[in-house]
Amino acid sequence: MKILIGNFGHEANTFASKDASFEEFTRMGYYKGEELIPHYRGKPSYIGGMIKSAEEEGVEVIPTVDVLNAAPTLSMSCVNKVMDDIISVIKKNKDDIDGICFGLHGAGVARGIDDLESYVLKKIKEIVGNDIPIVSTLDLHANISNEMVELSDGLFGVKEYPHIDTYEAGYLAFKTLVKILKGDLKTKMAVKHIPILLPLSAGFTQREPLLSINKHIKEYVKENDLIDASLFHGFPYADVEFASTSIVVVGDENSNVEKAAGELAEYVWKERYGFIPEINSPAEAMNKAENFEGEGYIVINESSDNPGGGTPGDGTFLLREMLKRNREGTVFGFIYDIESLEEIHKHKIGEKIDLKLGGKTEKIHGEPIEIKDAIICNLSDGLAICTTPMLKGLPMNFKKAARIKVGNVDIILTGDRGQTLDDRPFLITGADLNDYRYVGLKSANHFRGYFQDKAAMIIPTDPPGIMSADLSVFEYKKVTMPKFPLNKDIEF
Ligand SMILES: [Zn+2]
Repeated sequence: MKILIGNFGHEANTFASKDASFEEFTRMGYYKGEELIPHYRGKPSYIGGMIKSAEEEGVEVIPTVDVLNAAPTLSMSCVNKVMDDIISVIKKNKDDIDGICFGLHGAGVARGIDDLESYVLKKIKEIVGNDIPIVSTLDLHANISNEMVELSDGLFGVKEYPHIDTYEAGYLAFKTLVKILKGDLKTKMAVKHIPILLPLSAGFTQREPLLSINKHIKEYVKENDLIDASLFHGFPYADVEFASTSIVVVGDENSNVEKAAGELAEYVWKERYGFIPEINSPAEAMNKAENFEGEGYIVINESSDNPGGGTPGDGTFLLREMLKRNREGTVFGFIYDIESLEEIHKHKIGEKIDLKLGGKTEKIHGEPIEIKDAIICNLSDGLAICTTPMLKGLPMNFKKAARIKVGNVDIILTGDRGQTLDDRPFLITGADLNDYRYVGLKSANHFRGYFQDKAAMIIPTDPPGIMSADLSVFEYKKVTMPKFPLNKDIEF
């Protein structure tokens, strides 16, 4: 038995002003063919889970490509390039492929294609035909279209945010496909859309109401002998018709997947008031931080400029407020600014430099900050190994980094966009978090995988941005309305 594997995951922020090129989309890694196997074997990732299952089952895998990133709408040349790489492997192995286990994200959008996942599945089916079973893994932030469900023999979502269970999703998808191929199983699937747009910053699954919802879904799956059920939070920053929260249920041919999806959706709907996010301006967040009396460091996370949701990562609102306060023991980790970083790297540690920092990509994220006489404290190659459970053991490449000091504020700069996931960006620039009191960073929730138990307090801040938690600021053109919480009088 031979199974084709791969991953083409794109989370589209369609509110960005420019499309993403192939280079922009693949900047965090693009793995091809056999190199996928040693890179992901045993590592927390969709492909890692697929490999584990393949090795247990004694099934041969045919690897294609792996790419996963949040970015603006993809250019068609980018999509064509990725698809060419996938298709060429399929064509070469066409007669040997028994099944396909392919990772997708669920919120992919390209110029002219609002449902990238269905596009990919259709392109694959054009070559292998309709008789080869295809299952897919999906991110928790997937917007599920009806077509996606029709084209697939099983969609397996991540249940946790931070996404610590990609390995489990890959493993279950692959296991299910093997059962189908052995003739032991015929799958059925149903989707139920829930009229909710769920901002990312309200989606932390290790607290209520999502803790109880996930527990309930898990028990329901067990009691009703289903294969899997996923609550997809959806991605409200992709303006497509079917952007929404939803439930997808996978069962065998005897199961009533429609009834299950309906009942689970109803359960989630009742908890909808728990999905309204905490919204603080940077000034409000800093006031709360300054009034906190407990020991330890306080994290202020700028969720509206979370590059993990396709934002620029060079927004200046929170950093500007921290510089204004100039509190002792402040560190900002990190801001993306390749121009400033290259300038800094021309100097030596201890020298002083003037910079126009950040604010160079999207106007809505704030103007550049004029900085005079910043002291260069550290220069780094920007290489690290991730320690947060979601990506533990996988390499991170910030494409150089540096730490500068402006008054009492330490600022870490990187040469690539990214969200802060753990203490690595601080450590590689010689900063020990325990030496600080106020820690500013950019992320909506993934940072919690590392910081939830370590920070004395976490305060989200939501200045203007293309990933604001306040969804009323967006001019939706395509999303089917009405949706909670934009409209609170919806009946479901
Ligand atoms: Zn996600």
